[in-house]
Amino acid sequence: MTLDEELLTDLIRLEESGRLRHTSPHAGPDRLHPRTSTGRSLLSFCSNDYLGLANHPAIAEAISRSAAHAGAGAGASRLVSGEAPEHLLLEQEIAALLDSPAALLFPTGYQTNMGVITALAGPEDLIVSDSANHASIIDGCRLSRAQIAVYPHRDANAADRALSARDPYRRRLLITESLFSMDGDRAPLSDLAEIASSHGAVLIVDEAHALGVVGPGGRGLAAEAGVKPQVVIGTLGKAFAASGGFAVGSTILRTSLINHARHFIYTTACPPPVAAAASAALRISNSLVGDGLRARCLDLSTQLRTGLEQLGLPTSGQDAIVSLELGIERRALAASAALLEAGILIPAIRPPTVPPGTSRLRITISAGHTRADVDLLLGVLSTLSSAFGWVAA
Ligand SMILES: *Cc1c(COP(=O)(O)O)cnc(C)c1O
Repeated sequence: MTLDEELLTDLIRLEESGRLRHTSPHAGPDRLHPRTSTGRSLLSFCSNDYLGLANHPAIAEAISRSAAHAGAGAGASRLVSGEAPEHLLLEQEIAALLDSPAALLFPTGYQTNMGVITALAGPEDLIVSDSANHASIIDGCRLSRAQIAVYPHRDANAADRALSARDPYRRRLLITESLFSMDGDRAPLSDLAEIASSHGAVLIVDEAHALGVVGPGGRGLAAEAGVKPQVVIGTLGKAFAASGGFAVGSTILRTSLINHARHFIYTTACPPPVAAAASAALRISNSLVGDGLRARCLDLSTQLRTGLEQLGLPTSGQDAIVSLELGIERRALAASAALLEAGILIPAIRPPTVPPGTSRLRITISAGHTRADVDLLLGVLSTLSSAFGWVAA
């Protein structure tokens, strides 16, 4: 068989199991997208632009101001000649937001997790990781060659048992998301922090979906729980409407990552105009306007959850990620297709992103939505749920 024949066989298998994926011409961060084929406008409930900042004029302005002198790309790794004032300023602003000594930028959140985990853990270490953790955490764990123990989702007792392993590990790490990306539920951070501390373990918390959105002033769920992880991971690609990732912790951690995180060392630095854009978003998030956007996002999320409950479609969690589990792949695909037909964009989330049998619609709320948008979504879901005979799984 030629390579293409082999690959095609695999793709056919994916198609048969309802797992074939393709990119969508409807995509974009904003809540409204023109549909390319017909020009019809689509209402999007799948972007992670939680504060609705994607098209904020201050962000576009920050990009063009920076690009006018810095150009588009950084030109090299930070350690060679790629560092720009935009990077350092943004790092200071992120560290200040989290009331921490230091932050280090990475080109993406994905690379941040890979870089941090591989810099801190090696074959002589143990990593204890939540079963629902993001792919970038899983990949970082695997690449580190550490011993990995995956505990059942949000099960702090199981994490405790896993960390108790007798073997003479050099270092023990406990890694969790704070607000889980696919279920929209929250990690038991106070318990996990206590457990990590009792085992002398390093606590790493990925706040990709929390920072800017939840916690006091958008400072995330560790801040809300009064917990101080040794490392907080975040992304600039979601609430902060730009692109990039960061790790926050001590100044020694920052220096160590600069020296050991391969995903920082051997890659071109984040484009300076993008860092400038993230700074602009961070400033909006830190203002009274940001507080208003967070309140609006929460309010709309509550409206959606209440409406879904009334339809007999209960969901987990309390935040801007609303997960409607539908079971097998085909069911989620049919629901997504029917929504698209009605002008609403919510792609089906299927394995291996989520466990088999838990294919779902992952609905995300943005402060850019209106109450009427949410009512429209509820109306369509109501029609579909009776037409399809849905009951949430
Ligand atoms: C999105 C996400 C990432 C990756 O961030 P990017 O900046 O998009 O690469 C990491 N962790 C979690 C939990 C995420 O949801």
